[in-house]
Amino acid sequence: MALMDKTLLNIVFDGADEVYARAEAGINEAIAKYGEEKAVAFPGTAYSIPIYYGFTGTKVSTLGELKEALAVAKTHMTRDKRLHNGFHAGIASAMCAEFCELLKYLDGGAPYGAEVEGSDDICYGFLDDAKIRELGVPLVTQDIPGVAVIIGKAPTVQAACDLVKSYQSQGILVTLTGDICDQLKEGGYKTSFATRVIPLGKEMQTVAHVVSVAVRTALIFGNISAGDWDGMCAYNMARLFAFVNAYTPLTEEIVSYGAGAIAMGFPVITNEEGFYRVPKSLIVQPDIEKWNATSLDARNIKIKITNIDIPVAFASAFEGEIIRKGDMQVEFDGSRVDCCELVQMKEPSEVEDHNIEVIGQDLDDWAPGEKHQIVYVVEVAGKNMQADFEPVFERKFHSYVNCIEGIMHTGQRDMIRVRISKDAYAAGFRLKHIGEVLYAQIKNEFEAVVDKCAVKIYTDPETCTKMRHEVAIPTFDKRDERLASMTDEAVDVYYSCIMCQAFSPSHVCVVTPERLGLCGAVSWFDAKATNELDPAGPCQKITKERVIDERIGEYEDVNEAVRQFSQGALEDVSLYSIMEKPMTSCGCFECICGIEPFSNGVCIANREYTGGTPLGMTFSELASMTGGGVQTPGFMGHGKHFISSKKFMKAEGGVGRIVWLPKDLKEQVRENLNKTAKDLYDIDNFCDMIGDETITTDPEELVAFLTEKGHPALTMDPMM
Ligand code: SF4
Repeated sequence: MALMDKTLLNIVFDGADEVYARAEAGINEAIAKYGEEKAVAFPGTAYSIPIYYGFTGTKVSTLGELKEALAVAKTHMTRDKRLHNGFHAGIASAMCAEFCELLKYLDGGAPYGAEVEGSDDICYGFLDDAKIRELGVPLVTQDIPGVAVIIGKAPTVQAACDLVKSYQSQGILVTLTGDICDQLKEGGYKTSFATRVIPLGKEMQTVAHVVSVAVRTALIFGNISAGDWDGMCAYNMARLFAFVNAYTPLTEEIVSYGAGAIAMGFPVITNEEGFYRVPKSLIVQPDIEKWNATSLDARNIKIKITNIDIPVAFASAFEGEIIRKGDMQVEFDGSRVDCCELVQMKEPSEVEDHNIEVIGQDLDDWAPGEKHQIVYVVEVAGKNMQADFEPVFERKFHSYVNCIEGIMHTGQRDMIRVRISKDAYAAGFRLKHIGEVLYAQIKNEFEAVVDKCAVKIYTDPETCTKMRHEVAIPTFDKRDERLASMTDEAVDVYYSCIMCQAFSPSHVCVVTPERLGLCGAVSWFDAKATNELDPAGPCQKITKERVIDERIGEYEDVNEAVRQFSQGALEDVSLYSIMEKPMTSCGCFECICGIEPFSNGVCIANREYTGGTPLGMTFSELASMTGGGVQTPGFMGHGKHFISSKKFMKAEGGVGRIVWLPKDLKEQVRENLNKTAKDLYDIDNFCDMIGDETITTDPEELVAFLTEKGHPALTMDPMM
């Protein structure tokens, strides 16, 4: 029967039945081969089979349980002719699609090759929890203003590339399902998680992987309880600005997934002419060139337009772009030659606004692949400008320069590395365009304090050496001295940050000089600058006059503020304790710390670490113990820099409680952590006393290691 000979609900029900039958056959076949006890799991998640778990609250760990889960999904496919039943059938089809995908991972299967060295498969399949947490901050800050779910096959390769480019240039996260994955590959379009264009898979059922992202966003950031079906849909409708673009021809299966999407608040836009229409939810737009505008309008997504006069695109989606050696026109590498980036506050009379100067040679003077020096100095002036804002602006350069299509930037200060691609050069990109970007972004973002801005770009080797050693390094040293003297005791106010409330409605960070926001991106200076730029914005001053308990860092002023900013959800917090009234966690924390009872200390895992810990849990599993803006004594999300702070777990004895860290993280914090331990306990090389995965992940072996090293946690007061 042709699609339009059926009612819309019957199309949905038939699609759901089709996916159900495929899941049933797959599960039966797998049970016949492996038995019911065979373990099933997606890699890198603490949420079992996320769509099923999110909507039902039941975790599945074996094939036998998967069969029971399939029976539960079937109860939502009633074929009752009410809209509500259509929505349930849509979500049940997504569950069945998820089951089908899960079977591909059975017995250690690695069905997708996007992250496999040497594979020419560009698809990702399941996205682990760490990736979703990575998306937390850009979703919150609206650097990712929406999520486009593109399904099917575009009429031409060019049309596929154009649509994706239109979204990517707006910072929208794009997921691809179906033949469009191959079309992008054919068109030479660069896809990757880092550049936010993510091919999920060529089969339609792989769309389940983006539904899984939506479900885990609600579980991780929103504190939605697993099993709260209505809460899950309401959260996604209100907070995740996703939409679906489905190319003709539609099938029953696609329409059933579409019903699930609409149930979660994600409108579907299609070019299937003459198809059913549902106002604001199922929209027929035959002209695919209008899909971008129609989709944004349907989801009410407002794009901040950044008009910068450069010959390549500028968008946050390009931030993760990698420029390989063979693709680079030129490289500036501060670890080998003299490079640096610097902001200098000047008197207004000293700055000619929008004056961009390149002093020295430019890209046309160099052969492709050469390495050179670069120093760029951004001069700013304004009556509300303060020298304390210089490093705040400077740390933004990494993001600004990286957002340019075809430019890669790493590091900061005099340890920067900038690569400009051959493609960008061919498009007309020259050094002055770095200046245009820095100028435009500084003026856009900091207009409240910057009245005038000019950029000087030096490439002459002698001048670069002079600028680096005689101007930049002394400036950095002076700033570091000031930062070192910044303690919680030395300031009169702390700052709240509620940026994450877009996704974690009751979460409040209290940012102090010695405790940065748990995302790692908001220091006390950042919060101060945010407050001065936008006094009614997300960062508010918190006085600290009424001390309740100095030991745990509890203040009446802070409690009042968190009560107000969490709309009553939070009563009181301490700043320095993990056990008593700890600060809440939203979900985008860089690290998670949890108590380790055998050693009387804590283990910390960072987001990048995927292995096990002595707590018997991975980062994802540990992270799932907290989040969503609730207090969880014994667990705490935090930024990396907080690990070496003298205020880290001060109430429980300080950094001496740290008994285990992933090796990479240990190396990152080694210098500062050793210094803190020396100051606090007069211990030399404290990091050598801390376990890591190369030593052990077994709690008993860890205690033996700590005992051998004489680790201080073993003799501290019991934590519990
Ligand atoms: S400081 Fe806290 S609330 Fe603010 S963006 Fe970072 S994690 Fe979110």
